[in-house]
Amino acid sequence: MEDRSIQVNLCTSRKEKPKSDELQFGRTFTDHMFVMDYSEPAGWHDPRIVPYQKLEIDPSAMVFHYGQSVFEGLKAYKTSAGEPQLFRPEKNLKRINHSNDRLCIPQIEEEFALRAIQQLVELEKDWIPEAKGTSLYIRPFVISTEPYIGVAPSRHYKFMIILSPVGQYYKEGINPVKIAVENQYVRTVRGGTGEAKTGGNYAASLKAQELVSDSGFAQVLWLDGVEKKYIEEVGSMNVFFKIDGEIVTPALNGSILEGVTRNSVIALLNHWNIPVNERRISMEELRQAHKDGLLEEAFGSGTAAVISPIGQLTWEGEDMQVNNFTTGPVAKKLYDTLTGIQYGRVEDPFNWIVPVGSQVYSKAQ
Ligand SMILES: *Cc1c(COP(=O)(O)O)cnc(C)c1O
Repeated sequence: MEDRSIQVNLCTSRKEKPKSDELQFGRTFTDHMFVMDYSEPAGWHDPRIVPYQKLEIDPSAMVFHYGQSVFEGLKAYKTSAGEPQLFRPEKNLKRINHSNDRLCIPQIEEEFALRAIQQLVELEKDWIPEAKGTSLYIRPFVISTEPYIGVAPSRHYKFMIILSPVGQYYKEGINPVKIAVENQYVRTVRGGTGEAKTGGNYAASLKAQELVSDSGFAQVLWLDGVEKKYIEEVGSMNVFFKIDGEIVTPALNGSILEGVTRNSVIALLNHWNIPVNERRISMEELRQAHKDGLLEEAFGSGTAAVISPIGQLTWEGEDMQVNNFTTGPVAKKLYDTLTGIQYGRVEDPFNWIVPVGSQVYSKAQ
C-alpha cells in the first residue's frame, strides 16, 4: 500500500469547550478536522488534519448544483476509565462506500478512513464530554468540488471528517413520541437513493416533517413510494414493531437505509432468542394488530437516539396508542444494552467496540 501518512497542522489557540449540560446537537465543532482531496488521475491524495476552518469552494462546484454528496454519522464514547471508543465504525465506512457507489463518487479505502477517524478523535479526545449519555458525534462526508455546471459525475471531491460534542438525546431516560403516518409525500422510492446516505433524501423529507411538527408530532412514518401501503422508516430512523410476541421490521427493499443500529438490534434479538422477522409490513396490518390488541411495542432505531419508542401513531385521522404511551420492555432492554456496550458498562459479546487508541490504528494499517 502506498504511504498515506496524515499530515498534521495543529491550531494555535483552542476553542472553549461547551459545558456538558448545555450541549446541543450539531452546533459546536472541535478544533481540528480531517480533509483529503480527490482529482483525476491522482486519486485520493493529501490526507491532512488541519485547524477547523471555512472552505474556499468555487461557486460552480458541482455539489451546489446537483447535490452529489454523501455523509455518515457515528459517535465516540468515553468509558468510565476515560478511554474513547467507537461502535462498529467499519460498518459506517462500508456504508459510505455503498453510498459513494450509488452517487458515482470514487471509493475510499475503508481501513485508511478508520485510521483517519481514530487519529482525529485521539487528537480531540478532550472534546468527548463525560456526563451520562453524552458523546462526540463524528461526521464524515464527501462533496463534489469540480467547478463545472454540466450534469456528469464530478472529477474532483473532498472527503472530510468533522466532530461535534453532543448531549444526551433524552433528558430523562427514553420517552415515547407521537408519529404521523405520511400519506402524501415520500422520502424516496425503490431504485432511487433511499439506500444511500445522501443529503438529497433529507432535503426531500423536510416538507412532510415541517407540516406535522406544528401538530405536535415528533416525526413522520414513511410509507413506500410506489403503493403507499408498506411501512419503510420513521423520520431518519429504521422502525421496529412488536406484534403478538414477534418483533418485525421492514425488509431492506432498495429504498430503506440499512442502519448500523438496526443491524445491531437484530443481532441482539437473535442473541436473546427473541423472534425477529424482516418482512413487508402494511399500515393495514398494523391497524388490525392494534385493533386486536396485538400491537405491543413500536420504536425507531438510529445512532442519534439509539432507540426511540413510539407512543402513538396517527393514520387517516385515527390515533393508535402503543403500550399506553409508555416505553415497552423490549425497547428498554435494547436501549440499555446498546448504550451499555457503547459506554463500556456491559459486556460486548460481538466485538462491536473499537478503541480509538494507537494500537488499533496500527492494526488497521
Ligand atoms: C442514518 C439513517 C438511519 C440510521 O442509521 P444508523 O446507522 O443506525 O444511525 C436510518 N434511516 C435513515 C434514512 C438514515 O439516514
